[in-house]
Formats: sequence, structure tokens, C-alpha cells
Amino acid sequence: MDLWNQLPQEYVGSIKDQIDSLRNDEKQQNNLEQIIERRWMPKPLWAVRSYDLDGIKAWKTLSEISVTHRSNNPYCIYIHVPFCRSRCGYCDCYAFPLTKNEQRHIQQYTETLVQEIEIWGALHLLKKREISTIHFGGGTPLTLGCQNLNRIVKALRENFNVSKETELAFETTSSMLTEEIFSSLDQMRFTRIHIGVQSLQDKVRKLIGRQESPEIVLEKIRFANQLGWTVSTDVIIGLPEYGISGILSDMDSLIEIGVEGFSIYELVQSSRNRLFFNKFHLADQPILEKFVMFQTAFQHLLRRGYQNNLYNHLSKKVDKNIYFTSPSRHEDLLGMGTIADGYFGNFLYRHGSYLHYLKAVTEMNPGLEGGLFRSAAETKYRQLEIELRSGKPDPMVFASILSEEKAMKLFAGWIRLKMINIDPSGESCSLTPNGAWFIGRLLSEASDEIQ
Ligand code: SF4
Repeated sequence: MDLWNQLPQEYVGSIKDQIDSLRNDEKQQNNLEQIIERRWMPKPLWAVRSYDLDGIKAWKTLSEISVTHRSNNPYCIYIHVPFCRSRCGYCDCYAFPLTKNEQRHIQQYTETLVQEIEIWGALHLLKKREISTIHFGGGTPLTLGCQNLNRIVKALRENFNVSKETELAFETTSSMLTEEIFSSLDQMRFTRIHIGVQSLQDKVRKLIGRQESPEIVLEKIRFANQLGWTVSTDVIIGLPEYGISGILSDMDSLIEIGVEGFSIYELVQSSRNRLFFNKFHLADQPILEKFVMFQTAFQHLLRRGYQNNLYNHLSKKVDKNIYFTSPSRHEDLLGMGTIADGYFGNFLYRHGSYLHYLKAVTEMNPGLEGGLFRSAAETKYRQLEIELRSGKPDPMVFASILSEEKAMKLFAGWIRLKMINIDPSGESCSLTPNGAWFIGRLLSEASDEIQ
């Protein structure tokens, strides 16, 4: 495999070791590629079964649960903005390019979001609870413009307990950031930014439609750092013409200028990016090659002092990745905006698609599509899911939910396949880079033991 020649020597031994542990596992009847393929994430609950309650009844239930549920615990807020300046071919997010009637869409969506914020804010006990983070995702939230964003942030401050400790975070492309926008966001007290850099290689940037030069991207990250913001980004495995040497060199450039966190994931084909996959024949990329690139990127960060705070997010201490790590702290999630989901205790809800959302939000109702209660088995699975996704699964939690015997069997298998390590203290476990690749398989195996 040509890839081995491109890998820095320091990674070859450990990755080959991972591969051998998979290949040698006596229970495996499949060839190596088939084993590595077994990595798909289970679908979220709302995608595998129908809602228990329609939107109106879900809201009635929530307005009773959310005022009482763990009323002393902090919770986090997620706001989804489904617009982008243009649509990137590789992207799988729920987002539309703003072309016709741009201002009408922006104004209507802002109004609807503010209305939704006010409806939730009328739940007085919810209003009192501490908020850990407010995370704006999408899409590109900055397409709303600073004035509208300011209006939304103001509504959040007026309706919820947003304190000095509450982190304000947003996702964006670098091209949306100007000096003026930096300054407005700073005044609004945003302190964390997740930038979709994707690549600093000219050739790759051209293929994926990124307009700015790498130098300008780095300059903007430096500027965010100077403001005291925490900056994180993605490492996407499987973009066209993006080989391991480009990935490692980009990671080094980003580390050097102070990027605090990296989320590593594989580009996965879906109905939203199928044309892009076809255009660049991405489905033909050997799975072993992607697996090796994933492992190498992961190890590269570990060797530079980054640590998992989620199964696929490695960071320095400053980047706490509060929104994505909130389940480990047992925080509820108040999701707002189209397709945003959320949960209070064991009740989950979800908003509908864009047009449904705009129509469904009324003075009395935050526009939910439906809601469902986790069953006893789904609740057990959720606890195991949180453990595995945290990157530090606790065998004792597994033993208490499954049985000591089942937990030992699962962990023994995962340790044998080098998916989980026992930490040197002997007191805790953590997912290896191999385990991060196979998170979907670990989740399925945990789920099977509940049945
Ligand atoms: S990659 Fe980012 S900017 Fe591009 S379509 Fe997706 S969300 Fe929008």
C-alpha cells in the first residue's frame, strides 16, 4: 500500500499493530476490509421509530416536564440556522444556499426564532436554571447578519439565565469573518468558534470550493485567538486529493497558531452530497486507506498533548467543547430552530423541516414536530451511549446496567481488539483511535447486550 510510504515512520508500528489485532481476532470470519467497514453509527431514536406524541401534545408534556426536571442542573441551548452563502458539495448538513428572497428568509427566520425563545422563556423555572453554553450551529449562523444575531442573543439573555459563566459559541466558515463581525461578536460575548477550515492545501480548497487563501484563514484564526476566543476545527478524512501528508501538515500549521480542539471524522456519503461523491469517485477510496489516515491524524494529536474530551474530539485543556460534552454532565438540551432536537430527562422532541417550522411556531407553541419517551431499554442504552461517546467509558456503569458478566465480556473483547485501553492507573478506560473509528460498532454491541 503506497500510503505506508507516506506515513511518518513513528506511526507505522502502532497502526499495523491495531490492524493485526483486528485481523487476528479469532471470531472474525470476514476479511480486513469487511471488518473495517463495520463502523456505522446507529440512527437517532426519532429516525428509527415514530413519535409517541404529535407536536402540540409534545409541547404540553414538555411544559410540564421542563419546569420540574432536575431544576437545579444546568442545561445547554442549541440554535440551528439553516442558511449558507452557498452550498458546499461535500456537506451533509441541513442547510440551504441563500439566493432568492434572501432578506425575507433571514427576517422571517429571525422573527420565528425570537418567538420560539420567548415561548420557552415563559416557563418560569426553566428560566431560572443555569445555562452552560449557547451553541449556534447550522448552516452558517453568521448569514443572519450581526444585527439579527444580536437580536437573538438579546432575546436569549432576556428570557433565560445567561450568566458570565455561560459560554457563547458558534460554527462558521472563515470567509464569513470580517474585522467588523469579529468586533460585533466580541461585544455580544462570544468566546468559542468552530471554524470549518477543511484544508489549507490550495488544490483541495479549490476542489471543495473554498475561496480564501490559507494565509487569510490562518490570519483570522490568529485574530480570534487575540480576542481570547477558543478556536476549534475539523479534520475530515476522505476529501478529494487530501492525503495524509496534507492532513498532517495542516494540523501542524493549525496547532502552531493555537487551535485548541480538533474533531476528526470521515466524510460519509448521503443523499445531500451524492453528486460530489460521484464527481470525485470518493466511494472508490479504499476503506483501509481512510482507516489509516484516521488513526494517524488521531495519534498525531495525542502525541502533541491533545486529549479526548469526546470520542472523536481532541483538545487542549482550554477547549471544553461544552455543547458536545453536555450529555456526560447529564445536562438537558434545549434545541431551537428548524430540525433542532432536544431533551428534558427521558423525553425527546424534534422540530420539523424549514417550512414546517416557520408555520408551526405560534404564540403558544414552539413549533415542535413531535416527541417521544425513552423506554426502559432505550434509557439503559442512552446511559451506555453517553459513556462510549465520552471517550472514557466506565466499566462500572456498564456492569450496573447490564451485569458484571456482560460488562466484562464486552470490555474484554474491546481491549483484545485494541479499541479500549486501560489507563496506567488501572482505574479508568479510554477509547483508542481504533475505538473512535469503531464507535458505531461499540454502540451496536452495547445495545445488543440490553436486548
Ligand atoms: S460546509 Fe458549512 S458552509 Fe458549506 S454548506 Fe455545509 S454548513 Fe454551509
